[in-house]
This record gives sequence, C-alpha cells and structure tokens, in this order.
Amino acid sequence: MFLDLPPTASAADVELSALSSSFEERSASEILHWAVERFAPRLAMATAFGAEGCVLIHLLAEVRDRTGKLPYLFNLETGYQFRETLETRDHLMERYGLEIHLVGARETTQELEARFGGPLYATDPNQCCHLRKIEPLTEVLSHHDAWISAIRREQTRDRARAGIVERDRRFGLVKVNPLANWTKRDVWTFILDHDIPYNPLHDQGYPSIGCWPCTRPVGATDDDRAGRWSGHAKTECGLHTLKP
Ligand code: SF4
Repeated sequence: MFLDLPPTASAADVELSALSSSFEERSASEILHWAVERFAPRLAMATAFGAEGCVLIHLLAEVRDRTGKLPYLFNLETGYQFRETLETRDHLMERYGLEIHLVGARETTQELEARFGGPLYATDPNQCCHLRKIEPLTEVLSHHDAWISAIRREQTRDRARAGIVERDRRFGLVKVNPLANWTKRDVWTFILDHDIPYNPLHDQGYPSIGCWPCTRPVGATDDDRAGRWSGHAKTECGLHTLKP
C-alpha cells in the first residue's frame, strides 16, 4: 500500500500511473494515509470548503489521529468570499481541532479595485482569478512536493481526466485526488452520515460555491457549476485546469 515514489523525477511517471490505477479500488482514507506518510510535511491542501473539501478535512483529521501528521491546510482568501464560507472554516477548525490557514493575495481588494478603476471580477474574471487565487496558490505550492485536491471526475470535462494520483505539470508537483471517482451522492451521504460541518449555502441553491460576485444559485435541473461565472464562458478559476 505505502509504495515509495520519487517526488520529481519524470521517470517516476509510469510508476505514478500504475499507483493511480491501483488506488481506484482503495478508499479515500487509505489514499490520504498514503499521501500523508509519503509527502508530509511537504504536502498541502487548498480548500474553499466545498462539500468535497469538508469530507477530506474529516478524513484527514482521522489520519492525523493515526499518524500525528497533517498536510498544510489553507484557503485562498480572495477577499470576495461569502461570510458563510468563512464561518464554515471556523466550524471545521473547531470540530476537528486543526488550523486552516488563510492565504491572501499581494494587494487588498481595495488596492486592486483602485488600480483597475473598479472591480476586476466584472471586467476580467480570468485576471482577477489569476491575481487572487493562482498567484498565491503558486507561491504556496512552490514550497511543497504534493497537494491534495477535492475534485471529482463528474464535475467538469477537464476533471473527467483526473487520476487518483498524477503529475501536476502546471504547478510542478504531485497531485492527489482521493475523491476523483466519488459521485455527488457519495459525498452527501458521507457528510450526512458523519455529521460533517458544511457551507449552509448548499441548502439555499448553491451546489458550487466560489466568490460571491461570481456565484449565483441554480435551479434543480441545472448543472452544478452553472452558477459559477454566470454570463462568462469561464467555468474554472484555473486551479484544476490542465493548461495555464
Ligand atoms: Fe475574482 Fe470572481 Fe475569481 Fe473570485 S471567482 S477571484 S471574485 S473573478
């Protein structure tokens, strides 16, 4: 189970692929245990406290109890998050007794809007996401060998190709996606069975929650990510796309 894995050598990619295939039959908890044993303390996880992220935090707290190790947990604090999202962070930290760091951008939102003559999210959301999310994420990941993400294959076309473990060529490290083969039903069954704190906006028509200017509630038959950057072609902030 706990195979060794060269952290950077490209020759390891075949081994990585084989490992990823073998993990298809493993539980998310086993995959996280492997990742923590293999990479911590040079292991990170970014979370915006979506339902899947809450599941991973619950499982990581159990792994911490068994191993004494945790990834560096952090939230990209864009300055535009919902109050409910930040309160969900508080609830998770209290429930599991762990720290989830807030990582901000170089400028405050006021400085950003002054520099661009207004809210950048309204005129150029790609650049806004780059400055508020991608730059700080890149800085954090540059200090780590692997990161954990909460993506699931059924969420988007890009995500459909995700392995359980893969080389993240964009950020130059290993990426672990323990929930890649989970369904939305799997996630919510797990949350309810374990009474895991989650963002209350999910109960108000927001299946996918990002920054408040770029998120709207959706109808019952809409795609889960239909409420993100509504009116723009954009569907991803860039954390989980294959290309910059
Ligand atoms: Fe800016 Fe919207 Fe991206 Fe948040 S989601 S960083 S407000 S463009």
